[in-house]
Amino acid sequence: MNYVFDIDGTLTPSRQLINPSFKLFFLEWIRNRDVYLISGSDYPKSEEQVGKEVLHAVKGCFNTAGNVYYVKGELIYRQDWEGPQDLIDLLESFLEHSSYPIKAGNHIEKRIGMINFSIVGRNCTLEQRNAYNLYDHENQERARLRKTIMEQFPDIEVSIGGQISIDIYPVGKNKSQIIRNIKGPIHFFGDKTMEGGNDYDLAKKLHSPPNKVTQVQNWEETMQILKKL
Ligand SMILES: [Mg+2]
Repeated sequence: MNYVFDIDGTLTPSRQLINPSFKLFFLEWIRNRDVYLISGSDYPKSEEQVGKEVLHAVKGCFNTAGNVYYVKGELIYRQDWEGPQDLIDLLESFLEHSSYPIKAGNHIEKRIGMINFSIVGRNCTLEQRNAYNLYDHENQERARLRKTIMEQFPDIEVSIGGQISIDIYPVGKNKSQIIRNIKGPIHFFGDKTMEGGNDYDLAKKLHSPPNKVTQVQNWEETMQILKKL
């Protein structure tokens, strides 16, 4: 069995560092197992979050939704994509028209193969991040943005990931693209496997045996489940 773990919300709190005792447990757990990581973030961010030891202990790490692949620190492939100007214009108009009062800066981030967009902005504090997440739960702002983009750009896909942002990429260039790089059955752990979430496309392809999907709320739940495996 291959094990694939989402990072944000599954192995770490969103965009934050791995808990030190969980890290020790996880390093032990992945010994003699075929483990891969997948994240919407770029490789340097994943390295900051889980550390080099974890990244070198797993078989591979897929970043920016599988558009980049690293094995033990070595780049194996990357697929670039420049979003069209019309899309950038639309994102800027979202920013201008959103009624959310705090705009902390760094709203449109071009990553390899995708664009990450956030109304509150990635420069926000942890407090502002949590506040936006609450606002979004109540107002479904990210779900609305997602719908609007996908209506206007049929060849573009949008998913909701982390706490404050959406990921935008060409159709099919989502987390599910990593499957072709992994031989054999996959047990996938993710926190956003519901429709519209950034683990959904991958989870959808793995829902039947011999594959398996485990939806978790946070890294604590992941740890509890791994202890029993
Ligand atoms: Mg996640």
